[in-house]
Amino acid sequence: MPSTSTLKVPRRLVIAIGGNATHPESISGTSDEQKDIAKKTADALLPLAMLDKTELIITHGNGPVVGKILMRQQLASYRIPPMTLDICVAHSQGGIAYLLMQAIENALREHDNPRHVACLLTQVEVDEKDPAFANPTKFVGPFFDEEQAKKVGAEFGWTMKQDSNRGWRHVVPSPTPTHICDISLIEALSKRGTIVIAGGGGGIPVIRGPKGVRHGIEAVIDKDLTTQHLANTLGIDTIMLLTAVPKIAVQYGTPQQKNLDRVTLSELKRYRAEGHFPAGSMGPKIDAAIRFIENGGKRVVIARLDEAVAALKGETGTHILPD
Ligand code: ADP
Ligand code: MG
Repeated sequence: MPSTSTLKVPRRLVIAIGGNATHPESISGTSDEQKDIAKKTADALLPLAMLDKTELIITHGNGPVVGKILMRQQLASYRIPPMTLDICVAHSQGGIAYLLMQAIENALREHDNPRHVACLLTQVEVDEKDPAFANPTKFVGPFFDEEQAKKVGAEFGWTMKQDSNRGWRHVVPSPTPTHICDISLIEALSKRGTIVIAGGGGGIPVIRGPKGVRHGIEAVIDKDLTTQHLANTLGIDTIMLLTAVPKIAVQYGTPQQKNLDRVTLSELKRYRAEGHFPAGSMGPKIDAAIRFIENGGKRVVIARLDEAVAALKGETGTHILPD
């Protein structure tokens, strides 16, 4: 990839860490497993975190975690009243960011670097008339086979759908983010050199009423779209979406699968129109990438979490660029 191999780490960068990369299907979810994964994430990002001159904002997904919170409260509902989904998102945002913040700071301290990591609990406004409320697409929580999925769906009143060829999962509405609250605080902290974790789980979904009064609404916003919105609003021209696959592909999961190294905006739009990117998994990343470039962004890198640094150097990952 000669066109990308000379890449330099940009001075301002937003990195999104996938929910399935931070809480993979392969773990049952014990505290030790969660800490271990946070440490692996911190180790993967450490070379970037050490670059004190790079403004670094980190967002993260929450799909597997918020789904487990929902499941936990269903199982405990005979003793403890369930919380609405916006509060569950806030719980997941705090819990995941705590682990990431501590792991990244610990990794920095091991290298005698005093840089701070701060987490901002982030509300994100959505439109209550967003058609997404009538058509849930965001996968949360564990995978089930079809039979179990039907049982769980009926028992808990959940809508269940098939997630790529990976199994069946609970789906919830995922409206488009329209405004990131306190974005000026995210920017100010980041400009002073603090690594900021914000917009976790796509942000806590809220609607804005008269006089700027806000109320939570039940949804899970896609963190890739929140990442795009955040970076475009702050005029940051590179975003990196880290997930569980090394590159995006056409004909994904078939014998004809072809991984993409470098793709322009119009090529990507053509692939999207051909149906290569399913809703609820790769679809939102592609939508976010297209919106990001259309709104002035210069590069979207989609890569595997443990290849973040190599991808940023242009050695791997899929690089999406303007035409
Ligand atoms: P994250 O939790 O990182 O947001 P998702 O699970 O939502 O990740 O979406 C990424 C997943 O989408 C990949 O791990 C892969 O299983 C799946 N996927 C679906 N279509 C594609 C495709 N065309 N190319 C690559 N991965 C795809
Ligand atoms: Mg996702």
